[in-house]
Amino acid sequence: MGPGPRHPESDGRGMSGSDDRKPLTKLAQAGRKTEWTGMPGQPGGIVSPPVWRASTILYDDVAHLRKAAGSSTHERLFYGRKGTPTAWSLADALTEMEPGAEGTMLFPSGVAAIACALMAVLRPGDRLLMVDSAYDPTRNFCEQMLRPYGVDTIYYDPTDVAALDTHLAAGPIRAIFLESPGSLTFEVQDIPAITAWARANEVVTLADNTWATPLYFPALSHGVDISILACTKYIVGHSDVMMGSTTATPEWFGKIRQTAYLFGQMTSPDDAWLASRGLRTLGVRLKQHQDSALAIAHWLQDQPDVARVLHPALPDCPGHALWQRDFSGSTGLFSFILKGGDEAARAALIDGLAHFGIGYSWGGFESLALPIDPARYRSATRWEAEGPAVRLHIGLEDTADLIADLDAGLARFRAVRDTA
Ligand SMILES: *Cc1c(COP(=O)(O)O)cnc(C)c1O
Repeated sequence: MGPGPRHPESDGRGMSGSDDRKPLTKLAQAGRKTEWTGMPGQPGGIVSPPVWRASTILYDDVAHLRKAAGSSTHERLFYGRKGTPTAWSLADALTEMEPGAEGTMLFPSGVAAIACALMAVLRPGDRLLMVDSAYDPTRNFCEQMLRPYGVDTIYYDPTDVAALDTHLAAGPIRAIFLESPGSLTFEVQDIPAITAWARANEVVTLADNTWATPLYFPALSHGVDISILACTKYIVGHSDVMMGSTTATPEWFGKIRQTAYLFGQMTSPDDAWLASRGLRTLGVRLKQHQDSALAIAHWLQDQPDVARVLHPALPDCPGHALWQRDFSGSTGLFSFILKGGDEAARAALIDGLAHFGIGYSWGGFESLALPIDPARYRSATRWEAEGPAVRLHIGLEDTADLIADLDAGLARFRAVRDTA
């Protein structure tokens, strides 16, 4: 790094080339380079790369311009669409959080990242295995975009690894998409077993890793080829930016980058800057989301009107053993199933909550409650439950306030259920 301020730099690699920093140290240091935080020829430098806003990049002369066009333009100033140091810093930081990754591309939303990753991998005539518990808009992309384009999507049971072979009997599979725990219902997949199966059968693996983030589940270390995040959730962490990312192995990164360029996908530098700010505190936020969510999940388990709590860190949840083996933490999002009652009884619970917002998305500092109806988004498995279900995102409020709020909500639920 040459003369200048002591400045922990992004890649922390010693002479050996290996990076043995712990994940929390990486969160504090990742994506910081002196050429993005200092002035050429001047001592000193700021801590975080600033917002570099640009469309046009100006060149010294024609030769310089031609040279830029002919070279690899990754992380070089070329034209605003290919980013500036603000976005590269965030992308590099996400790459550093995933051992085995070659690079990260950023997208204007999580759905855009999922769509681009699938388009980078699939061609007409290919067959895709999609987890049955996938995020609903992922299923919509498969049905409304991939199917007319000639890609056949086959939905599979998230927990049945042995059944994967049966799909090969009908012809080769190009890719398998995982999401673990599953959206809404939190089924945990045996990701090492699935990625081993995929490797043996030349199947590309893509995983939506939004729930755990690379901090609690570095997906590429578990054999995944392409790890996808809705950064909108925990990376940003403050419910004020939409963003997605794909982090990929050396084999896949170039292809995804090219596809993203072809589609003109990028993020604004202001959004990248906010997401980088969020990333620095991911460790402390997730720890608190985890502790508070577990306290509330345990409390809900003891309530007579709650049939089941769907949270993989609870020992009696079906996916618990896999979660315990593969993940280093749990986060703030889980669901519970009410005992009996109907739509009106569930609405009575949710509508009167004082400390939970009612809304989509999650991952911010605030608590949310959402009525969920998983049966609508299943085709390979059947969703059966003892009553209506509610998904909670546990924010950073005091858990005593949240529990009192839910306690009053369950009383409202009972009142409607028992007079119906
Ligand atoms: C929210 C979400 C997405 C999509 O992210 P957006 O930024 O809202 O497009 C994808 N996967 C999961 C699991 C999500 O929760």
